[in-house]
Amino acid sequence: MLTEVKGLVIRTVNLSDNDKLLTIFTEEHGKITAVANGSRVLKSRYLAAAQLFCYGSYVLYKKGDRYWVREVSLIESFFDLRSDLARTALAAYVCDVADDVVEENAPDKEFLRLVLNTLYATANGQHPLPKIKAAFEMRAACILGFMPMLQGCHYCGRTDGDFFLDIMNGVVLCSECHRNGEGIDVPLTAEDICTSRIICPLSSSALAALLYASVCPMQRLLSFRLDEADMPLFSASAEKYLLNHLERGFKSLDFYKQVCD
Ligand SMILES: [Zn+2]
Repeated sequence: MLTEVKGLVIRTVNLSDNDKLLTIFTEEHGKITAVANGSRVLKSRYLAAAQLFCYGSYVLYKKGDRYWVREVSLIESFFDLRSDLARTALAAYVCDVADDVVEENAPDKEFLRLVLNTLYATANGQHPLPKIKAAFEMRAACILGFMPMLQGCHYCGRTDGDFFLDIMNGVVLCSECHRNGEGIDVPLTAEDICTSRIICPLSSSALAALLYASVCPMQRLLSFRLDEADMPLFSASAEKYLLNHLERGFKSLDFYKQVCD
């Protein structure tokens, strides 16, 4: 029986000299793993579409409990991702996040669109990589069900000044409410208040950027401006937000940071 799917290769593993196991994030079935036979042979007709970051149309057949690739036609290779190590590293991290959160037989078109848009932006170089990465992380967390409340201080309603993002509770606090230990039930010393929860400082512009990335139309995800001075606050909080809600780190993220240092 043949199945036709459209998807992005988010992971490849060499099975032998000739065979490669592809993990494909498909529109129709979520994550699928399929063997591409002969894909490592240079003349292979699969070669172009059996690479990491390739988006294509795949005809699969099932033999035993495994899918095999019969035909592929490449839609987008994201070739420019490979022109720069930092871009390649960021794309690998994005694919690793997808591999971690997408399930088999659970299509998630919105998440696939986020991943494809992010790879496209990473490849074409029109936006700084920290901005692309943070917008992806924030939006990914929201799609996965961890949408934070970012419309001003959760405790007093204040909407101007500096803020803190309370990562695990998904709310923001103004400086004063943070100092007063709002949201913490047990009376604590000032020092304990700082260590008892994961918080990230935010300027009002960085907060606005987080809010924008959470709710804007997907095709406008990067259509915002943020001063260079605010970028570290935006990017640190988006990364912490996603990783803490996924409860894990990624080697590809560590590698991206090494490359960018
Ligand atoms: Zn407040």
